[in-house]
Amino acid sequence: MIAIYPGSFDPITLGHLDIIERGCQLFERVIVVVFRNPNKTSLFSVEQRTRQIRQSTGHLPNLEVDSFEGLAVTYAKIRQAKVLLRGLRAVSDFELELQMAHTNKTLAADIETIFLATSTEQSFLSSSVVKEIAKFGGPIEHLVPPPVVLDIYQCFAKNKILEERAPIAPPTVQATEGQPIDPSLETL
Ligand code: ADP
Repeated sequence: MIAIYPGSFDPITLGHLDIIERGCQLFERVIVVVFRNPNKTSLFSVEQRTRQIRQSTGHLPNLEVDSFEGLAVTYAKIRQAKVLLRGLRAVSDFELELQMAHTNKTLAADIETIFLATSTEQSFLSSSVVKEIAKFGGPIEHLVPPPVVLDIYQCFAKNKILEERAPIAPPTVQATEGQPIDPSLETL
């Protein structure tokens, strides 16, 4: 049975990785799908996020990483996946996740959403928490897979340089989908 694990993964955290590793033990094949969401401002482009996930999951032979723009059920149908895998951290996740699961059921009755409860030690962890800490120069090595650590620090270092160059009117610090933060600083 094929399961897809859809999400933003901006960036992948050890919480995501925990769900991925456990999913790989349950299903024949797991496909992590980075969804392109034009309504969300993201730190990393979809291409960067898929690369980060690939680099972090090389030890999982039954895992595939892909990206998609559209509905999760559309992607699942294309790949003949019968399961949408999602993680649950707290009650705060539950309401939205249940709504999405019900909605997806109305769109594709033969596709099931299966939730894995977060591991206790990852229950507080989200991509937003990681970005918040990194923004202020705090340690993130214990929160994200090693290949992601450098990416995040480099990204925020570039943003800091940009802010210092324009102290009066700092530019928007976050990259939009598919665009580097500042092409002229790409080699920094
Ligand atoms: P989305 O924008 O689709 O919520 P995310 O990347 O934030 O994308 O999350 C993808 C999935 O991973 C969601 O089901 C979310 O609940 C789950 N998830 C995120 N962080 C954790 C964690 N620390 N433990 C377990 N599940 C998590």
